[in-house]
Amino acid sequence: MDFAFTPEQEQLRQEVRDFIAENVTDSVRAEVEDAMDEGHGEEYMKLRAKIAERGWIGISFPKEYGGQDGSRIDQYIVEEELARVGVNVGLSGSGGPAILAAGTEEQKQYFIPRLIRGEVTFALGFTEPQAGADLAGLQTRAVRDGDDYIINGQKMYTSSAHYATHIYMMARTDPDAPKHKGISIFLFPMDTPGVTVRPLWTIQNDPPAPMGTTYGMGRTNETFFEDVRVPASSMLGEENMGWYVGAMGLNLDRVGASRYLISVRRDEDIVNWVKENEFDGHSPSEDPEVRDRIAEMWIEAQVCRLMTLRSMSIVEHGGNFTYEGSAEKVWAPEHGVRTTEGISQILGPYAQLLNGSIGAVEDGVFAHNLMGSFQSGINHGSVQVMRDQVARRGLGMPRG
Ligand SMILES: Cc1cc2nc3c(=O)[nH]c(=O)nc-3n(C[C@H](O)[C@H](O)[C@H](O)COP(=O)(O)OP(=O)(O)OC[C@H]3O[C@@H](n4cnc5c(N)ncnc54)[C@H](O)[C@@H]3O)c2cc1C
Repeated sequence: MDFAFTPEQEQLRQEVRDFIAENVTDSVRAEVEDAMDEGHGEEYMKLRAKIAERGWIGISFPKEYGGQDGSRIDQYIVEEELARVGVNVGLSGSGGPAILAAGTEEQKQYFIPRLIRGEVTFALGFTEPQAGADLAGLQTRAVRDGDDYIINGQKMYTSSAHYATHIYMMARTDPDAPKHKGISIFLFPMDTPGVTVRPLWTIQNDPPAPMGTTYGMGRTNETFFEDVRVPASSMLGEENMGWYVGAMGLNLDRVGASRYLISVRRDEDIVNWVKENEFDGHSPSEDPEVRDRIAEMWIEAQVCRLMTLRSMSIVEHGGNFTYEGSAEKVWAPEHGVRTTEGISQILGPYAQLLNGSIGAVEDGVFAHNLMGSFQSGINHGSVQVMRDQVARRGLGMPRG
């Protein structure tokens, strides 16, 4: 196995770095920091358009749908460099890979180019009050009525639903079938009559996380569906096969740099902070325990990076991708918790003070990162459920 990037890939990396130096201004960065909770502002969208113009978004998507028919590794290089400045242009988690795999030609023609251009974004409507880890227990109903379906029910934790253009949601289409078999997926605009979004504020919002926080969102939502009429053509995949389409989509969404990339900026921020600051006239980087801890963190980050590259390589070479994404989804969030806890121990009690408190380190950024790091172990499939998938699909153990 050759781990080296090609000269062309190194050149691409340099081009992205030059682009960042020229275009990612402080005002863009300030907007990017807000984007997670409030949607994208004008400056961010202009920047995103410039990135898309260069063909750097959706590189590995087919040309006929606005991509480049290019390599996932090239895409990864672009995403990794932009992640260093907090800009996420990855399409893993966008719904794009599932639409490409299971969508009709019309859905692919409509959604994929718009996802690449940033004109369409999806909120994920899977979880319900009584269906989280046990997702197949969901109760939101979709009933066929002529050429339409009528949807009624409630979703929980629909992050980004307050600014996404569309929802990618699961509903029960056959209540009499075994619970995994009567579910379908629908894609439709958020402004469809009968859809109501209410905020669910998280601990990250009290007080709102300061600029520079890399982990966790301050707001997610609950979304209600009351007699929401959608055309039958908004179904993704076959009727009652939504469980399998959804699981495949979530798995494909895990192929990509997003999990590892959350840690890139945070880990580098920590190393830089430790090198650049002094306590009692000494840099923490001179302390053997601190050095050990930071080195350990860096080694863990490299494991994360290699797991990411392996996943992309498997998919790029047409391999069978089953449990690898689940393994990453355990390692990366728990790495996040370990490093944010580690930095908190290195910096001592002041690092736990939130913004607004006297003596808060870096205006509470590290305290918010510590709190926010736990979210990633829950959203998009909890680490407990992911471990079960590794045991079953990777190690051939029976269902837990
Ligand atoms: C910040 C955030 C954002 C989110 N965004 C979205 C989103 O955009 N869209 C969406 O649909 N959902 C989203 N979620 C929901 C997320 O996917 C669920 O919270 C998650 O699946 C767990 O479900 P639950 O909260 O109902 O917990 P429960 O299902 O009640 O589980 C509670 C705990 O028990 C563990 N557990 C449950 N069953 C088992 C088992 N059989 N074996 C071992 N452990 C088990 C779980 O892992 C968890 O730790 C988000 C969640 C968070 C926190």
